[in-house]
Amino acid sequence: MELTNNALTVLERRYLAKDENGNVIEKPSEMFERVANYVAQADKIYDEKADINKTSKIFYDVMTNLEFIPNSPTLMNAGRELGQLSACFVLPVEDSMEGIFDAIKNSALIHKSGGGTGFSFSRLRPKGSTVKSTGGVASGPVSFMKVFNSATEAVKQGGTRRGANMGILRIDHPDIMEFISCKEDTNEITNFNISVGITEDFMEAVEKGKNYDLIDPHTNKVTGSLNAKKVFKHIVEKAWSTGEPGIVFLDRINKTSTIRKIGEIESTNPCGEQPLLPFESCNLGSINLAKMIKKGPKGYEVDYNRLQEVVYTSVHFLDNVIDMNKYPLKEIDEMTKKTRKIGLGVMGFADLLFYLEIPYNSQEAVDLAEEIMGFIDKKSKEKSIELAEKRGVFPAYEFSSFKESGTEIRNSTTTTIAPTGTISIIAGASSGIEPLFAISFMRNVMDNDRLVEVHPYFEKLAKERGFYSEELMEKIAEEGSISNIEEIPEDIKKIFVTAHDISPFWHIKMQAAFQKHVDNAVSKTVNFSNDATKEEVEEVYMLAYKLGCKGVTIYRDGSRENQVLSTAKKE
Ligand code: ADP
Repeated sequence: MELTNNALTVLERRYLAKDENGNVIEKPSEMFERVANYVAQADKIYDEKADINKTSKIFYDVMTNLEFIPNSPTLMNAGRELGQLSACFVLPVEDSMEGIFDAIKNSALIHKSGGGTGFSFSRLRPKGSTVKSTGGVASGPVSFMKVFNSATEAVKQGGTRRGANMGILRIDHPDIMEFISCKEDTNEITNFNISVGITEDFMEAVEKGKNYDLIDPHTNKVTGSLNAKKVFKHIVEKAWSTGEPGIVFLDRINKTSTIRKIGEIESTNPCGEQPLLPFESCNLGSINLAKMIKKGPKGYEVDYNRLQEVVYTSVHFLDNVIDMNKYPLKEIDEMTKKTRKIGLGVMGFADLLFYLEIPYNSQEAVDLAEEIMGFIDKKSKEKSIELAEKRGVFPAYEFSSFKESGTEIRNSTTTTIAPTGTISIIAGASSGIEPLFAISFMRNVMDNDRLVEVHPYFEKLAKERGFYSEELMEKIAEEGSISNIEEIPEDIKKIFVTAHDISPFWHIKMQAAFQKHVDNAVSKTVNFSNDATKEEVEEVYMLAYKLGCKGVTIYRDGSRENQVLSTAKKE
């Protein structure tokens, strides 16, 4: 296996089995064997005579080739005592003390196993409204979010990794203004990403400059109204200054949900790529596009035959995970098996563009994104249909949009673009569909450790083209972008673009291109340079809405202290 040093460091720290003294007792290949063997066993549920060893070998091969990697909890927990394999959960938060603290307890159990939790706080009565049983006043969603946050903080140390949450509040909740600024103090609510749940009515009011109503979810009464444009501007301003809140288009998410009749989606998982019903969980897995290439007459090209094979194997794998998973709660077990959502996505897209010599910020790249994701989505459905023939359709099928179209399928969703924060390090690939942050950079991994990386294909080309030198590589590490470095040929500069060479317009165009062929959502950060204006941020939000995205997250360089990725220059 070709694992980088960074990959080994990450694996040793949290993924490989250890003895009671903390010594690593598992090799990476043994980890993949453990995962493959365990996940393959699900085949037996549907076919007593299934050749488990054969399936296991196929799973093992795609993982050790670094062609497909499942989400972290599957790698960490498959075939082990914990056995919890999903990355994404959404838990309901009911408007009662029992409901709120049940959700906190359940999220602690999920965090312990490496999963992330999303919550909608929209059902909680607003701050200042009365509590019947005590005659007191309610403290409102934001104050409860702080309790959730403290619980996450406390669980952090004992768990497999630090917990992550998504907190969502609907735009028409009376406490929305407090929510929008709740992360102004960057030391508050640190274990949450927050997003405002946007409705179609609200967007219409923004466009027309009208007021919209605020509704108390407890009484269903209108408590006041706000000017939509002003609130929108307020969101933009906060996002500009701290990167949060993001926005999610809730009505759009529900409109495109394949299981609308089963329930209303109110939240996503922590990084926003997976909208889920309360108590649903989802396991993700990503194909490394950097491995889906072959040499053609004019250089590298996409190897669609291999990609098809890997998609088929990945869907088989992820469907098995649903059955082999040990769920932290009975409700989650039931709900997840009812809808059988899986989220197959990609990583290494930026690497692929380098190999194909296509600049990320070009229509050619956007077209390629559509072509590849369209292919993956189509093939994933083919496999899911084939699985349904042997294993049956997902139990909620009768109430799904697939029933209406007569498509007998095994999974109510098949595709999601995850951030692949850690699994991309394991695969040595660029994360998700993001451009590289820098050709050479330092990465903060896990808690405080930092790793240095130079893009291998860049290094190879630099040597071939004769402009390689160690000094130059160092200079690039310091600069981040290569756009102002004289020694580098123009055609290379054009191809090896990094996040900040790419305008927000192309970031959003790329997100929208992937979204077109993804059932769930797309994890993407739109990067702005430090001197970007609020108006530019607003434009991108509007563009995301117009292009059919399901949400937007932006980040203006330098606007938060603890940046995950940074070039040496900023240190
Ligand atoms: P990975 O690369 O580790 O598989 P991703 O970065 O693709 O994970 O994130 C996918 C999802 O996994 C996130 O949206 C979130 O639900 C969950 N997740 C990621 N990091 C954490 C974390 N530190 N704690 C809990 N859940 C996490």
